[in-house]
Amino acid sequence: MDMIYKSTRGDAKEVTASQAILQGLAPDGGLYVPVKLPRLCKTMRELSRMTYKETAYEVLSLFLTDYTEEELKACIDAAYDSKFDTEEIAPLVQADGAYYLELFHGATIAFKDMALSILPHLMTTAAKKNGITDEIVILTATSGDTGKAALAGFADVPGTKIIVFYPKHGVSAVQERQMVTQKGDNTYVIGITGNFDDAQTGVKKMFNDEALKKELAEHGFRFSSANSINIGRLVPQIVYYTFAYAKLLAEGHIREGEQINVTVPTGNFGNILAAYYAKQIGVPIAKLICASNTNKVLFDFFETGTYDRNREFVLTSSPSMDILISSNLERLIYHIAGDDCDVTAALMKELSSGGKYEITQAMRDGLIDFISGYATEEDTAEAIRTLYDRTGYVIDPHTAVASFVYRQYLAGSRDDTRTVIASTASPFKFARSVMTAIEGKTSNEEDFALIDRLSAIANVTLPPAITELRTAPVRHDTVCATEDMKKEVSRILGL
Ligand SMILES: *Cc1c(COP(=O)(O)O)cnc(C)c1O
Repeated sequence: MDMIYKSTRGDAKEVTASQAILQGLAPDGGLYVPVKLPRLCKTMRELSRMTYKETAYEVLSLFLTDYTEEELKACIDAAYDSKFDTEEIAPLVQADGAYYLELFHGATIAFKDMALSILPHLMTTAAKKNGITDEIVILTATSGDTGKAALAGFADVPGTKIIVFYPKHGVSAVQERQMVTQKGDNTYVIGITGNFDDAQTGVKKMFNDEALKKELAEHGFRFSSANSINIGRLVPQIVYYTFAYAKLLAEGHIREGEQINVTVPTGNFGNILAAYYAKQIGVPIAKLICASNTNKVLFDFFETGTYDRNREFVLTSSPSMDILISSNLERLIYHIAGDDCDVTAALMKELSSGGKYEITQAMRDGLIDFISGYATEEDTAEAIRTLYDRTGYVIDPHTAVASFVYRQYLAGSRDDTRTVIASTASPFKFARSVMTAIEGKTSNEEDFALIDRLSAIANVTLPPAITELRTAPVRHDTVCATEDMKKEVSRILGL
């Protein structure tokens, strides 16, 4: 029996995994969720003897049941190859009492590569399986890292085009340079004068625009999404939590059955939701520690049961977490409401009209395994500096938010459960913030000079993703107002 996916808002047809991946967002505006969650078939001991690719097959085959074994294995092989600079794919580094799961060894040195290197393959396979001949247009809003990872994943993939919108003044210099130098005849990159939430709202509007959809179809196009709302993003992220646990077991850091905690620097709630699903399918995870930066809308939600996006949007040194509407939280809301679509739809309606909603006490009880915390800009810098001073290990500001929140939790709870911290970006991607944190003062050197100095003090060679940027020519320089996003899409596609 194939696993069936339904919309969190209950007003869309049930679909198979490949159909959900093709569509991205459900037509009723909801997110696809499996009707029933699977369980791992292998024991953690068995998994502890597997490579990353083998683990990926075990997890993906539970969720993406309408793909054949051959199809899944072909997708996995195409994704987790030499684009990664280590065969381990996701190394686990022990530093100062925690385990940093380095998810930044892919093409764009941020964790989005973990899923976005496989999504294009899952999607083109899905198109074939479902007899789709339209060209797939990937429409993506990015707070910095998704954009580049999606561009790298889809560049020159036949039968696809990719259009990325990013906040012109809301990403790091390296992030912007990575995107505007993207190669590939099917890639389009546009800066908008608004922030990430504006970009995401604009993209969602286009997805729900029936007239636009019709026009696309007439021209032989169809939209899909590479954002973390796509289950084709979510499922590959469950893999590395499974892999991390198995690795700890294989290396004797934990006993069989022993639980671990997981700390995740959180923005759109995709990464930590994958950890939640890993727990549901049988990975022994105790606490899910959700770490926010100054945009602590999630911390306030976990503390009070009220989600309220009506607040000032702050630009921080961890820009990929500068988000006030965490899209994937909708899936958790659906689950803690007892898989209730009506409750979810009503709350999401309140969110879109008034910018806030409150959950019931019974739903709050469903959040028992979540711990939340946040780090200010000073806390973040301090976490980078302290870890470096103690161990010589350098982390990026996103990972530092998680590192700080974990330390704070540890101090308050004395919960000494082994803890995996999701290390979501290479420090070289945010060299300026990292060097400022370590040296305690800002420097007026150029970004690439800082990168070289960071490489020296961290004793880490520069990843190719960085060295390439020095000479890569700029290929994309379009900037538009938030209101003109749709106009840009029509122009690109010649509608
Ligand atoms: C996207 C991103 C995050 C946030 O992940 P979500 O899945 O959106 O919660 C954290 N750190 C980095 C470096 C990212 O790119």
